[in-house]
Amino acid sequence: MTELQKVLDGRWADVRDDVRAQLGELRLDPEQPTDDYRAEVSRAVAELARSGRPHRGFDPAYGGGGDVGGVVTAFQMLGYGDLSLLVKAGVQWGLFGGALQSLGTARHHDRYLRDTMDGTLLGCFAMTESGHGSDVQHLRTTATYDPATAEFVIHTPEPGARKDYIGGAAHDARMAAVFAQLVTGGKSHGVHCFLVPIRSESGEALPGVTITDCGRKAGLNGVDNGRLVFDSVRVPREALLNRYADVAEDGTYSSPIESESRRFFTMLGTLVRGRISVAGGAGTATQKALTLAIRYGATRRQFSDPATGEEVVVLDYLAHQRKLLPALAATYALHFAQEDLVARMHEQQRFDRVASPSDEGLQQELETRAAGIKAVGTWHATATIQTCREACGGAGYLSENQLPQLKADTDVFTTFEGDNTVLLQLVAKTLLSDYAKRVGHLGLAGKARFGASLVAGELAERTGARSVLTRGDVRDPDHQRRLFVEREEHLLGGLARRMRAALQPGADQFGVFNAAQDHLLEAARAHVDRIVFEAFADVVERTSDGPTRELLAQVLALHGLAVIEDRRAWFAEHGYLTRSRAKAVTEGLNELCATLRPRARELVDGFGIPETWLACPLLDGEHESPGTDPTSGRDDPADLTSVG
Ligand SMILES: Cc1cc2nc3c(=O)[nH]c(=O)nc-3n(C[C@H](O)[C@H](O)[C@H](O)COP(=O)(O)OP(=O)(O)OC[C@H]3O[C@@H](n4cnc5c(N)ncnc54)[C@H](O)[C@@H]3O)c2cc1C
Repeated sequence: MTELQKVLDGRWADVRDDVRAQLGELRLDPEQPTDDYRAEVSRAVAELARSGRPHRGFDPAYGGGGDVGGVVTAFQMLGYGDLSLLVKAGVQWGLFGGALQSLGTARHHDRYLRDTMDGTLLGCFAMTESGHGSDVQHLRTTATYDPATAEFVIHTPEPGARKDYIGGAAHDARMAAVFAQLVTGGKSHGVHCFLVPIRSESGEALPGVTITDCGRKAGLNGVDNGRLVFDSVRVPREALLNRYADVAEDGTYSSPIESESRRFFTMLGTLVRGRISVAGGAGTATQKALTLAIRYGATRRQFSDPATGEEVVVLDYLAHQRKLLPALAATYALHFAQEDLVARMHEQQRFDRVASPSDEGLQQELETRAAGIKAVGTWHATATIQTCREACGGAGYLSENQLPQLKADTDVFTTFEGDNTVLLQLVAKTLLSDYAKRVGHLGLAGKARFGASLVAGELAERTGARSVLTRGDVRDPDHQRRLFVEREEHLLGGLARRMRAALQPGADQFGVFNAAQDHLLEAARAHVDRIVFEAFADVVERTSDGPTRELLAQVLALHGLAVIEDRRAWFAEHGYLTRSRAKAVTEGLNELCATLRPRARELVDGFGIPETWLACPLLDGEHESPGTDPTSGRDDPADLTSVG
């Protein structure tokens, strides 16, 4: 194993190696008919269960391994393989198992946890409804308590309350973790989660449950997504996952968290693992696409160099390097940000963790990071996989070369586990409230003090920072980091000032917020850019001196330059980049692309993707000898008339 792979493999290197060994045996065929593919994925899930690996993430008291970070790392490694298998495993152990573990108590764990780990109880996670996806707080399914029988009645009151897109519901799941409005004594207490059996052992829908199939999708066709409608289905009182709230036999509702909204967000927060896993899966899929495209680009030849007569390898063209190498650098940055995120989650979700007063703040920071990295990482996946497809020309479009499948399967990652736009708004709202705490006076009580002096002080600070930043070296990661910090602070400060209008008596709060939504999203984006960059910079800092550190530092600088170039208009508009500095960014980027071109193969090999998972005709060219253009000396590489 190379030094580079060791750095990339990080803390859970043993888990990564274990999955690499296992992956070689699990190659599925997404091209087969839907039913066959689903069956094959289900068999692979059963095989995974038999291997005992999914147990790793559960409570040791129930035979689990207590290694939350390890199981998420293992999960994301499946992204090198089959993404339907990744999602199906995610539904069973991440979403269904996660809800059971995090929202349930001993009575649920004793009864269901082992079977869930073993895959003998297959579950699904039924949150989304046809009418409400992102706005989960306003789901319409009801769970009404009946004290006469000590049961909850689960009901779909209108077509929009139908559970929709639910992974595993169409064919395999026997039980659903159903999110519904809890009603007792005629009063609603908000969304809670209930375990509801939906299918018999023999596979038929249970009485009162109507199950339909979502049918073919753009990708992930090995997953059986379905719809659920409940017609007054009765479940015992104990079906409520009651870690955060309970209903006594007489119907009395109780919860240690008084505020309905806070309780709801606390419950959702415990499910953050799913979102982190999706970000990780997007990362590995992107790494695989880049590995295919860069290896292909390093052998594919088009047009010849008139001086030598030799056909040029496409990765030697600057345009091709610009397509792939900044994307590779961003993928490195996101990989390290993900590793950091998983480590934070692991510490916070340890089964032996003793509660501490700082937990709430840490949990909120984890959720904010998870939302931001999931949004930015999955958008990066969608854009990069498309770029990789194009970088492989026509060959990239053939199913046999895997890129179309990667594109189709990862597309929806931007939507599930939280729509990206909605997630970035969550990030921005947390940033705003942290900012208000920092400046101390944005809350209603102290709003009068959030006054002119503070704003003036902040503006003076910005002006000072600007004059320093227009002088530094844009290729220096320290300087790049300062630019990122400044951008975030600037956007956030401006946003906070705009939001003050919403605090005026009688203000149109929605209107103020909506008018600044683009600003809000940009601030969130700037925050994520900064934390992702810093996660990468920390890794470089920790790597011992030597060629690996040198290489990583160059990749970091490339990433920094690429982000600055992408946001060049903003930096220039706000006085952080002079015209000459802006040109230096592009020059630096081009130079670093040329410097890293000979290291491109080494950089993708660092991901350690098993060859069996990469094997496809696209890479056959690696075994052929270099071509010489028979028309050498006559062809101009820029002569587009020879485009076929
Ligand atoms: C293949 C697949 C598998 C899935 N698996 C599951 C599962 O197992 N369990 C489950 O519960 N759910 C599942 N889902 C559902 C998924 O989580 C939802 O689709 C997702 O939360 C988005 O909800 P929506 O589809 O209602 O979109 P909407 O929320 O209606 O969003 C539509 C558009 O409106 C925009 N928008 C929404 N609100 C705002 C706002 N405030 N400001 C600006 N723009 C906004 C969004 O950005 C988006 O572009 C799955 C979905 C798919 C496609």
